[in-house]
Amino acid sequence: MGCALGLAWTSAQALEPVPDRLVVLTFDDAVASHYSVVRPILKRYGFGATFFITEGFSFPTNKQDYMTWEQIKELHQDGFEIGNHTRDHLGVTLRTLGQLRAQVSAINAPCAQYGIARPVSFAYPGNGITPEAMPILKELGIRFARRGGAPEHPYEWGRGCAFEPGADHPLLIPSAGDARPDWTLDDFKQAADQARAGRIAVLQFHGVPDREHPWVHTRPERFEEFMRYLHTNATEMHTTLSAHPFRIELSPGQYTFTIERGKEFFAETREIMVERGMAKLTFRLRRWINMRQLGWYCGDTHNHRDPAELPNVMLAEDVNVQLDEPFSYHAWMRGLATGRSFVTTGPMLMAKAGDRWPGATFQVTNELQDYWLDCTVRSEQPLESIELIVNGAVGRRFEPKNRKTDSGAFENEVSTRFKPEGTSWLAWRCFEQRPGDQFRFAHTGLPISIDT
Ligand SMILES: [Zn+2]
Repeated sequence: MGCALGLAWTSAQALEPVPDRLVVLTFDDAVASHYSVVRPILKRYGFGATFFITEGFSFPTNKQDYMTWEQIKELHQDGFEIGNHTRDHLGVTLRTLGQLRAQVSAINAPCAQYGIARPVSFAYPGNGITPEAMPILKELGIRFARRGGAPEHPYEWGRGCAFEPGADHPLLIPSAGDARPDWTLDDFKQAADQARAGRIAVLQFHGVPDREHPWVHTRPERFEEFMRYLHTNATEMHTTLSAHPFRIELSPGQYTFTIERGKEFFAETREIMVERGMAKLTFRLRRWINMRQLGWYCGDTHNHRDPAELPNVMLAEDVNVQLDEPFSYHAWMRGLATGRSFVTTGPMLMAKAGDRWPGATFQVTNELQDYWLDCTVRSEQPLESIELIVNGAVGRRFEPKNRKTDSGAFENEVSTRFKPEGTSWLAWRCFEQRPGDQFRFAHTGLPISIDT
């Protein structure tokens, strides 16, 4: 089984293909055993998690069964995520919607007081959902909201379905399972093993043990067994690095290393038996294209995003700009503004109309004139299709020939004549098939316009 993380952490991850066995651990209701039992177990396995805090039930007075804010602060300092579960464990319904703002703010306030980052994750108390809550949560800075397994599954059994980034709304993230006192390892596996094919299993726990909510209690020995299952056989770690040496401490054993660097290099995967005292591993990545040499310079398209997410986002998608002058910030911005660009998650798409790049406008003087369109794509894996978009719809589809280049990549060249019928705008896009039903794509920046 793979790695276990907190809810917010998966956001950046979701932009990249989701690896199998990615599990999110969540713990509701600020139960005392989260600090005394769960925390040491998670730390031992190196697992991340989200703790959803409420001051409901007997939290204010019963410190035998509920954590103190000092302990919650320690969880935050350990690197665990602190999420919001409303002050009074408010069931979110149309009738209670008016209280939601105050209820969420009343947890944000002690967080601020104890130096805990303002929660961006929320869990619907009692797993009750109402879509009308979503704009309010959004306005309160909540970016991820976890629900239970209902309506797909009845509440009683704690069954659920895995989270599918892109398909599930981030403010209605389903639980793949909500642990019950009678859960065996098989029940846990049924929930956790849904983490495959691009889906993330978000697992919901309450106290370990939970004396105050016996219907969602988990025995510590059981919990230990579940975590051992997640940990056994594999440790999966993801990291984004700058160009500096990278240190990681590993126990002896068999490991698979996958190293990727941006888009212009082949990824390398190597199986290595790590032995005691092995100090250093070196990976040299092979390039399949050098866009700079071709006059293209890439940058990040996501300036509107949370800076914390940028390192992963930049690896997932970038914008390439063609420069017919030496590189400078202003030249790059000028190229971007004119649209001499393409956006890509992998393939390098270089399109021209006559001798002009995307973003060009042609003024038609002769109604009978037609235009030569050229498109060259290089990609690490074979392309599945190349499409010419005419006025927003697929005008022509080309069967890729996928000629192998000297560097081991694939090249496709398409030339076609286009005769405009009235004012037209044209764009190119292409799709690259990747293992595991994933694909990568590229799309030209501004269209080529032909004005009649
Ligand atoms: Zn709860």
